[in-house]
This record gives sequence, C-alpha cells and structure tokens, in this order.
Amino acid sequence: PPAETPQIVVDAHGLPYLNSKLPVQKRVADLLSRMTLAEKAGQMTQAERGAVTAPGDIATYDLGSLLSGGGSTPTPNTAKAWAKMIDAFQLRAQATRFQIPLIYGVDAVHGHNNLVGATIMPHNIGIGATRDPRLAQRTGSVTAAEVRATGIPWDFAPCLCVTRDERWGRSYEAFGEDPALVEQMETVIQGLQGAPDGRDLKGADKVLATAKHFVGDGGTEYGSSTTGTYTIDQGITKVTRQQLEAVHLAPYETAVDRGVGTVMPSYSSLDLAGDGRGPVKMHARADMLNGVLKGRMGFDGFVISDWAAIDQLPGDYVSDVRTSVNAGLDMIMVPYAYQDFHATLLDEVEAGRVSERRIDDAVSRILTQKFRLGLFEKPYADTSGASEIGSAGHRAVAREAAAESQVLLKNAGGLLPLKTSQKVYVAGSNADDIGNQTGGWTVTWQGSSGDITPGTTVLEGMRKAGGDVTYSKDASAPLGGHDVGVVVVGETPYAEGVGDVGNGHDLELSAADRAAVDKVCAAMECAVLIVSGRPQLVGDRLGDVEALVASWLPGTEGDGVADVLYGRRPFTGQLPVTWPKSQAQLPINVGDAAYDPQYPYGWGLTTLGKAPEGGATTLKALAVAAAVAEKAGAEEAGRALVTKARLIVQRKAGQDITAAVAKPFADADHLLLTGRYGKAVEKLTAAYRAS
Ligand code: BGC
Repeated sequence: PPAETPQIVVDAHGLPYLNSKLPVQKRVADLLSRMTLAEKAGQMTQAERGAVTAPGDIATYDLGSLLSGGGSTPTPNTAKAWAKMIDAFQLRAQATRFQIPLIYGVDAVHGHNNLVGATIMPHNIGIGATRDPRLAQRTGSVTAAEVRATGIPWDFAPCLCVTRDERWGRSYEAFGEDPALVEQMETVIQGLQGAPDGRDLKGADKVLATAKHFVGDGGTEYGSSTTGTYTIDQGITKVTRQQLEAVHLAPYETAVDRGVGTVMPSYSSLDLAGDGRGPVKMHARADMLNGVLKGRMGFDGFVISDWAAIDQLPGDYVSDVRTSVNAGLDMIMVPYAYQDFHATLLDEVEAGRVSERRIDDAVSRILTQKFRLGLFEKPYADTSGASEIGSAGHRAVAREAAAESQVLLKNAGGLLPLKTSQKVYVAGSNADDIGNQTGGWTVTWQGSSGDITPGTTVLEGMRKAGGDVTYSKDASAPLGGHDVGVVVVGETPYAEGVGDVGNGHDLELSAADRAAVDKVCAAMECAVLIVSGRPQLVGDRLGDVEALVASWLPGTEGDGVADVLYGRRPFTGQLPVTWPKSQAQLPINVGDAAYDPQYPYGWGLTTLGKAPEGGATTLKALAVAAAVAEKAGAEEAGRALVTKARLIVQRKAGQDITAAVAKPFADADHLLLTGRYGKAVEKLTAAYRAS
C-alpha cells in the first residue's frame, strides 16, 4: 500500500458487501441497495487517466474505471511507476463512501506491451500459425502475470476478430481467417483469467479478459465508404444471418463458455441482410448486445464500449448515451469528457429514457467482476510478481511461441534448416530491428522501428545460435564468399487503420526490401523471411528464392526464429490466413468458390524429420496416446495430442495435400472442435492410411 493512508469518509467495514465469505451475488445486491443513482452512473464511467486532471474527480464522480489506451497520454514505462500511478488513483477511490475500488484497464495484446522490458509475444496472427492451444494459453498466463504485477487487473484482449481481408490494418490482431481456428486459440482466455470459468480472478497472476470487437470487426468491406477511401477499419460488415453466425458470432459463443469477463463492441457497423435496417453501428445494436450476447449466449460479464465509440453514433450526445446504454453497454470508455457523460446519463435516467433497472443491471455486472477480482479486499497493486517481468522463464514461453509460429512456405532443395558451418549473408530491413519485429501495440500504440524495448533480434538470435553471419542491411557489403543469404524483409509498425500507409495501402514489399531480395538472391541461394502483420506479395520473385518463411510479428524473442532457422526445432507453423498471389485477389479466404492463392490456408512445410525434436514421432503413436489420454478423461491432453498428430500426418502426406487426405483432416478438425476426440482419432488414422 502507498505511504499516504486513504482518507476514509465513512468506515464501510462491517457492511455485508465487505464480507468476503458471502457469495458474490449477495455482496453485489447489498452494495447496490445502498448506492445513489449518481454513484451508479459513476461506476459506468471509464475515463482516460490523463483526462483526470483534478484527482479529486475520482471521488466527485465516483469513477468506476480508468484506462491507459492506445490513444492515451504517454504512460510510465517502469513496473514500479505503473503500480505507483494506479495506487495513487486507487487511494482516491478509497476515499469514497463505499470505497468501491477502481478497475484499471490496458491493452496488453501480446504480452504486457505497455511496459518497456516486458516479455513481448508474437502477435495473434503468429499464435494462430502455431495451431497450439496449450501454448496460446501459456502466453496468456505470462501476460497476465506481468500485467497484474504492475497493478493492472484488466486487459482489453483477446481480439476475436476473424479477419477476412488483409488490407485491414488490424489483421495481425486476429488468430486467423477461420472461425474454428479463432475458437481453438481462445485458450488464451483461460491463460489470462487463470481459471476455467472466470469466476475467481483473485491472485497476482490473473487478469480480467476482454473479447473484442463484437461482432464482425474482421469482416468489413473494403472501399465501401461514402466518404471515400479505405473504411475497412471501423467500416461496414455486410453479411447474411448465416454468415454472421458461422463466421463472426461463433467465436463469442466459445468465449462466453470459457467465462470471458468482459466484451467490447466493435466500431464497425453491421448490415444484416433482410433486417431492413441498413448499416447500424454495433454500439447501437440492442439486438446483438442485449439479444444475442447477453440473452441467447447468456453472457454475465459486462460490456465496455470502445474508445469514444458512442460519439460515432448518429444524433447528439444525449441520444448517443441513451442509445448505447439501452442497447446493452454497461461501461463507457468515454474517455475524456467524463463529467458530461456522467451528467447526461443521470439526466436520461431522471427523464425515464434509460430505466433504473438497466442501470442496476449494468452496475451489478461491473461490481461482480470487481468482487471476483478481489479488488475490495486488495485494492492496491500486488507487485510480488514484478521480478518475473521479462524473466528468462517468461521469455522462454515467448521464444517457443515465436518458433512455433514460423511458417515455412517454400524450401527448395531443403535449404533450411541452415548449418552453423555455412557462411551466411544476412540483409533486409527487419533482420536487426526489435521495433519492426514486435509491430504495433508495443511500448506505444503505433509501435515504432528501432531499439524500443529489450529483446533479441533475428540477427542476434542467429549469432547466438552459433551462425557464421555477415550482416549488411542494404546488402551493400561484398556478396562473394557466402554459402547462403537470409533476407529479412516486411512491414514497419502500425496499429489500427489500414496499416503500412507508406506502402500505399497494399501488401507490396517496399522498394528497399525488393532491392535487397533481388541483389542477394541473384548472388547466392537464399531464404527470405517476411516479418509482417499479414501476407506480403512475393509474386514473381519466388523463382529466385529457394526458401520463404512467414515470420509474422514474432515479438522480442528472435531466438525462437533462429531456433527453427538452425534446426534446433522443426518448422511446424501453418498459415492462419490465405496467402494471396496478387492484390486483385483480395479478399480471398479458404472456402471461396474461386480459390487460387499463392499458398492455401493451412499451408506449412516442416523440417520435422530433420530436427532432433519430434523426428521419431509417428502419427500412430500419437493417435494411440491421444486415445489413451481421452479414455483417462484428460480431454485437453487428448485434444492437444490429436492436434499434433494432425500436423504430422499433414507433413507425411507430402508437400501437397491431396484430396483424399484433405477431407478426413477437415472432418477431424470439426470433430475436435466439437469435442469428439475418439471420432477425430479415427478420421486421422484414415487420413494417415490414405497418405
Ligand atoms: C481500439 C480497442 C482498444 C481501445 C483502447 C481502440 O482504439 O479499437 O481495441 O481496446 O482503443 O485502447
């Protein structure tokens, strides 16, 4: 606790809601019954921390929450400073009548990316490439431990967007283009919340998670705007009911089942075929928020708006507040003029345009999560885990994720893995740049190139792996004498919007990158690594390139990339999105009628046989182990094993997936997702035989 002692206005102790032995529901009901309308409206208000220039406002407006968001004022960058800052805010909340603690939220979307020195995981697109739900869960656990150790109990993650068009600047925040894959990776929710059902979030290594952005954020149309260009971010998702259910809503069913504590609606509009409403902003869609999410799916957590999203609704501010709260928003990320929001909400209730019942429901939901988090008992930061921030143990998890996320797209002549005896010429804009490797949402909202946080670049990882490496970023150093070239190219950081604007809104490599590839690959056998948030067009360059790797945004642990490059681990990643041939093909997704990509969804070669690890594993052994695990009741273990088996049989089938093998895979996938492990094993065995 901070040195300054809280000024207690009323000694709330002794009241039933403070009795931690009572069930949460009882505590909520007791507290709610004592609160004034103004206090309730305060709980529904989330302010940007820099907007609170008069700290006394926390008590004056009974603010329920503060955040440091993407667009926030610069945030502290040491663990101690974070905890100190949040404790100082909390001290103010403790000076209110009922000492209702604040809940502080941040976007920790790939590790505690707000903090210099934290362990930065691959962005979600890379996690999707791993096809490894257990690993996804472990990345979530590490993130939770690092976030909570800085006094933050709430994370606006994971993004459950199903990305259907990679021109969208948030494509890398998605696990992939297939809802089934997104659902598989939702184990990250358990990792963050540290409990199977999200009902006990106490503890220094758990945070409240947020499924976002509900719903259809990844399905927006490209160039459909009336205002002109590139509204793919925050644009319009035009779908049939069936598409909405199967593609975009399905991941939320799973998230609710997994007990996700909060949901954030999308900035985008939904244009649902047949409902006659045209495009309607998600923050105003009562049918989706009240109806589908809270009603049909039975979501019992709370709905937090996106940043200033209610301001985008048609009409004046009064109607924005009324419409969004009535549609099912429980807390509003205002984020600046919280005084206005508070007053407007009160007026609307007093005028009877927002019911008190609606307010009570919203506040109950918010208080429930605060009780579950144990904030009433321990409002101040528990920094006991702070020494683990960026620790070797945490980085080992990120390294594993980076390694498993690498997708080997092409490997002519078995160029990869490299041997330490080879003389390697390394070039390209992303070979030695931690900022580019970590991408957007790293230290700052947009991220930036350069040495922004401690970590290991791909180049450093290769050197640590014992590689005999010459480095020349622009390939200006003499090319002769080398056995093999490794050119690491790709994107520079961005967040939201359309991405790499400097590159002209497209998926082309920059001129400098193209020049480096051309130069090196003309002179020697070469591997090209693409460090980017989405596929980049390689087109006719492929001819000169022996090996091609999709590295995604691997995070701070370039060692993981070096592990697969040098064969210390096998390449096992699979494409989480379709890799297009040309810009003109976009959007392109698996299942499209005309599907002629550069590399199909799910593609990924392996160096399994060549790697020390896993080389001797056979599908049969795995299938048997899976069946045994399943019988023993260890469903998760069975499932993980079957997933691995699936991967292996796919490689065994050769570089090409024949139709005879593809069908049983697809069936097995579906069976796995619906929990029918035994049947899945049968299908996989059939696939194995067919191969
Ligand atoms: C993003 C959200 C994020 C919020 C707070 C918004 O711009 O759309 O994903 O959680 O900012 O940073």
